[in-house]
Amino acid sequence: EAKQTLLKVSGLKVAYGGIQAVKGVNFEVREGELVSLIGANGAGKTTTMKAITGLQPIAAGEVSYLGESIKGKGAWDLAKKGLVMVPEGRGTFTRMTIIENLQMGAYNRNDGEIQADMDKVFGLFPRLKERAKQLAGTMSGGEQQMLAMGRALMARPKVLLLDEPSMGLSPIMVDKIFEVVNDIHQQGVTILLVEQNASRALQLANRGYVMESGEVTMDGEGQALLNDPKVRAAYLGE
Ligand code: ATP
Repeated sequence: EAKQTLLKVSGLKVAYGGIQAVKGVNFEVREGELVSLIGANGAGKTTTMKAITGLQPIAAGEVSYLGESIKGKGAWDLAKKGLVMVPEGRGTFTRMTIIENLQMGAYNRNDGEIQADMDKVFGLFPRLKERAKQLAGTMSGGEQQMLAMGRALMARPKVLLLDEPSMGLSPIMVDKIFEVVNDIHQQGVTILLVEQNASRALQLANRGYVMESGEVTMDGEGQALLNDPKVRAAYLGE
């Protein structure tokens, strides 16, 4: 029952000028998994995500998706192949309505099921349906996170990359976002979740990786990491 590896990062190095932000990172995400990448501020999680999606140049190493190198490929290309990122800070189209933002997510598609998928997104996030004609820029932070996730789902992702979806949200909104991340995973979408909220991210994860100063220092099953004394001391405030 070996699951196919969908995303594989090998020996990844990324630098900002003279600063080595990612120093030879290895990890993989297999079909159907939810994999969490946790670590403190500045550990290199977001940089890793940006390197995967072509937003940051790769100094060394390889990133492959479905067995093919995706180095240098941009967001639209990757979305067409089913690899879709929800960036940190969300990046919604602020001067478009909720519906228009969701339609933009389906930009790559020409099948007849776009409306049905929009209804599914509205099922996951009733708030988006209530605000369908509101401009995205006037939505709260949590609502914009919902919209960014909804827009990504409109591309019918095979693998969804979520960069710090809970950042800056109220506790109730954090609960809601993690609940939906779990729902999306249960519906069969493979997920790579980057989070500073280690406890929540590991609770949902099949497997996790811990990043420190640009390196992966631990990995294992989500539950095992959650119970690991070193992880508990460093990331769970114990
Ligand atoms: P956070 O959770 O705070 O977003 P992170 O683990 O995602 O942290 P990164 O944002 O990847 O960390 O940052 C890794 C390192 O690279 C940090 O030392 C950061 O200061 C540095 N860095 C990030 N972006 C840039 C940039 N555009 N220019 C220079 N240095 C950068």
